[in-house]
Amino acid sequence: MTREVLPGASIGVLGSGQLGRMFAIAAKRMGYRVYVFSPESETPAGQVADVEVAAPYDDLDSVGSFARQVEVVSFEFENIPLPTVQRVEQFALVRPSGHTLHTTQNRLREKTFLRNAGLPVTPFFAIHSEDDLDSIPEDLIPGVVKTAAWGYDGRGQARVTTREELVRIWKNEMRQDAILEKWVDFSMELSVVAVRGGDGSTAFYDPVENQHRHHILDVSLSPARISPKVTAEAIEIAREIVTRLELVGVLCIEMFLGSDETLVVNELAPRPHNSGHLTIDAHVSCQFEQQVRSICGLPLGSTRAFRPAAMANLLGDVWAEGEPNWAAACAFPEVKLHLYGKSDPRPRRKMGHLTATADSCEAAAELVTQARDLLYLRDS
Ligand code: AMP
Repeated sequence: MTREVLPGASIGVLGSGQLGRMFAIAAKRMGYRVYVFSPESETPAGQVADVEVAAPYDDLDSVGSFARQVEVVSFEFENIPLPTVQRVEQFALVRPSGHTLHTTQNRLREKTFLRNAGLPVTPFFAIHSEDDLDSIPEDLIPGVVKTAAWGYDGRGQARVTTREELVRIWKNEMRQDAILEKWVDFSMELSVVAVRGGDGSTAFYDPVENQHRHHILDVSLSPARISPKVTAEAIEIAREIVTRLELVGVLCIEMFLGSDETLVVNELAPRPHNSGHLTIDAHVSCQFEQQVRSICGLPLGSTRAFRPAAMANLLGDVWAEGEPNWAAACAFPEVKLHLYGKSDPRPRRKMGHLTATADSCEAAAELVTQARDLLYLRDS
């Protein structure tokens, strides 16, 4: 059954980074009041929310009083402790559900769910203890060993080319539940941002092509340069996943495309995703508006693109030689600047992004990367 939470109501978000910020902007534009909960204050999301609660996630009294003030709660990253979510569930709707969060916040649970559902997934092996290291299948090496929980942007993972290397890394650096995945020689990384309402309705954005640098998303192009057949397959995989999870909310599916045109799922994120940021400027309803609509029980918006687009991330590294030259980037009339309100531009930290639309995704990518290069331009 769908319960509607209508504009004017208060909605909450656990986590206070850029995804919470863009969610809050979309929600406020639609007339909602937004409460943000995270351990920090003056956060990217808190700066635009109506109310910012700063308390640790395990302070269940504060979590409870936050939840009492809102009707529905979503989250902006999947590493929210389960007891926190269960506490919120006592007072407010949680969307996506605690069950979806539980499945997707652990790589082993996530990949097991995908494999059991008969979906294409990177071949993998579970490592729970030292004993498991004796029975590693030979055909998974070379591979990538990843901690089962708490990893993101390439953290908590290492490429391994021999069994000895794997054993050494697990024993010295991990010693916790981990997953060994076969190394996939992909020709492209893709993602599909999917949305599903409580009434079972679904909507999908066209697959986005993702280019990474040092394991962090660098540039995304929409639509991905793939055949209509691969597009249809990627969307079918996404449909199957959100239906089986009985998702209510937004979920991003990251996939690898092999040179033989086959797809395997790499990772799920039960929330809007960095690769979907370009939907703000290039699509009728952006991924954050869809998050608001789906968790509030409103009909879903259109995922139609106005134009091809590209997005380039702005990491803290852009500040290495001083304040970036914003005017130079904004001199491109088709380029849109998004900054997340973070004051400390540490290397690798996501500080903002640029989006451009153009007649082709290549032209848009050319524009955003040119604009980004000019951020380093010094006045002479
Ligand atoms: P993840 O944290 O799983 O999204 O991994 C971060 C990035 O590492 C991915 O976007 C890929 O570029 C790369 N990667 C992860 N797993 C694999 C794999 N099994 N084979 C090849 N590359 C991978």
